[in-house]
Amino acid sequence: MPLDTLYINSIIESETKDKILRAIHTLEKEFGIPTWKKKDPLDELIVTILSQNTNDRNRDKGYQRLRASFPSWQDVLKADVALIEEAIRPAGLAVQKSRRMQGVLRWINNTFGGLTLQPLKSMKDDEVIELLTTQKGIGVKTAAVVLAFALDRDICPVDTHVHRIAHRLGWVSPKTTAEKVFYLIRPFIPNGKAPTFHLNLLEFGKTRCTARNPHCNNCPLQQDCIWEGSVRFRADV
Ligand code: SF4
Repeated sequence: MPLDTLYINSIIESETKDKILRAIHTLEKEFGIPTWKKKDPLDELIVTILSQNTNDRNRDKGYQRLRASFPSWQDVLKADVALIEEAIRPAGLAVQKSRRMQGVLRWINNTFGGLTLQPLKSMKDDEVIELLTTQKGIGVKTAAVVLAFALDRDICPVDTHVHRIAHRLGWVSPKTTAEKVFYLIRPFIPNGKAPTFHLNLLEFGKTRCTARNPHCNNCPLQQDCIWEGSVRFRADV
């Protein structure tokens, strides 16, 4: 790579790092340092599959109904898929999710000799991502959620909120996919900060930097925003 390209890349990297550090600090000032209730890795995986393309309320409804109908994962594995579909209907995409869920449970049973993800505890982060993402319905985000919130790993999953905010705050170039954002911002997050940063970005994305009509006037990160729809670039405000 030519020297001037290397030089420009190093400036971009250092600016991105500064922006991410500023976001971590600012959001901690706004929302504090969040905590979470740690789940069993398999429970977390199933909840995260249910959460795809829906909101928290509908995901929780679907999960509660699933657990009420099928108290153990063995029950889900053996069940008629139409009954799983019915139980998780509030979470949306019930046909697809019920089949994927059963497929993942079958794979876990065959791979680990039982319905448990405890063997992941002895694997490295990237090995876990590589293994889980071989399965339909498990992307990098889902694997990262299991790592961060059920296996105590220092990982910041990139969901739809984090993806949107990363673009608006100019951490990545336009059109960068969520999966690429995950790998690009990973080295810039200080040790020990990744899961809480993810939770604060979620809070920021749900309450301020919403997909539609973000509350830009009240935004503590406005100085770093490069999104043309933000209040900084609108002539009508
Ligand atoms: S200024 Fe608006 S669009 Fe930009 S980060 Fe803040 S809330 Fe989001």
